[in-house]
Amino acid sequence: RAKANPGTYRFFQPAMDRELKQTLRLQRDLHTAIANGAIVPFYQPFLRLSDNSLAGFEVLARWNHPIRGFISPDAFIPVAEEIGLIGQLTTAILRQACLDASKWPQNLKISVNLSPVQLKEVSLPDQIYRTLRTAGFPPQRLEIEITETGLVNDVTTARAILTNFRTAGIEVALDDFGTGYSSLQNLRSFPVTKLKIDKSFVRSMNTDPQSKSLVVGILAMSKSLGILTTAEGIEEAGEGVWLGSIGCDYGQGYCYAKPMRGEEVPAFLNSRAAA
Ligand code: C2E
Ligand code: CA
Ligand code: CA
Ligand code: CA
Repeated sequence: RAKANPGTYRFFQPAMDRELKQTLRLQRDLHTAIANGAIVPFYQPFLRLSDNSLAGFEVLARWNHPIRGFISPDAFIPVAEEIGLIGQLTTAILRQACLDASKWPQNLKISVNLSPVQLKEVSLPDQIYRTLRTAGFPPQRLEIEITETGLVNDVTTARAILTNFRTAGIEVALDDFGTGYSSLQNLRSFPVTKLKIDKSFVRSMNTDPQSKSLVVGILAMSKSLGILTTAEGIEEAGEGVWLGSIGCDYGQGYCYAKPMRGEEVPAFLNSRAAA
């Protein structure tokens, strides 16, 4: 093989062949998975740090795979983005989340992650509203989470989309805050109502004075801009107490609960009500 042109030989290396086949299989399986409802929402609670009361749940996608079990979103969200399936995936997740959350107390919100590529699509808000309407779910119970990457791709479209969401009463959170760039400018020039301090800061807060200073600074700045704050990745109760004491509004992390299946939420709510 590849005798005529040695330069093409590398395309036939078994390892690359295998890798390509794996990617193609993943792409094909993802189509089917979305169509069959195998991409499911998990839910991780976020709490008000002032009194530890439950405020809502972040919706985190999982692929319920017949052989591989629950697959992490880091493995398939990029694939969905690449092959143009992220819109369908989001709709499927949101639809299921609305159905689940309809059975929970009405004061609890759901917070859904949007991919940066979706903020280039002006029809995005209408797609979301259609799903909400079909499920009879009030927009005021929805929050969306975006990252800074989504804002800098196509600034004009991103701003129009976020303004549209805000008009509908949907909270807009800036996710992974502190890991991107031009963060301060983004807070000023986009209708962001909340920011989520990245878990890497929370993780290193105790050991690294600079991380701690950054967290303190982010909280002070948010307060003066009238923006709400969530700290993610809280793994120790003490961290949550300290963050609350310096004005962080919400907390989320393994110390409160790991992401859970929809069927597990009622028991979680009961256990909190009993406590
Ligand atoms: P993210 O939005 O930053 O979500 C937070 C991640 O941190 C989640 O990982 C969550 O399970 C994990 N986490 C929560 N608390 C803790 C903690 O105390 N310690 C540690 N070490 N980790 C914690 P997950 O579920 O694997 O999601 C990974 C990323 O995949 C998310 O990061 C988000 O960017 C993306 N993603 C998840 N679901 C969706 C979705 O439906 N659509 C889109 N576009 N992206 C999604
Ligand atoms: Ca998120
Ligand atoms: Ca995050
Ligand atoms: Ca992330």
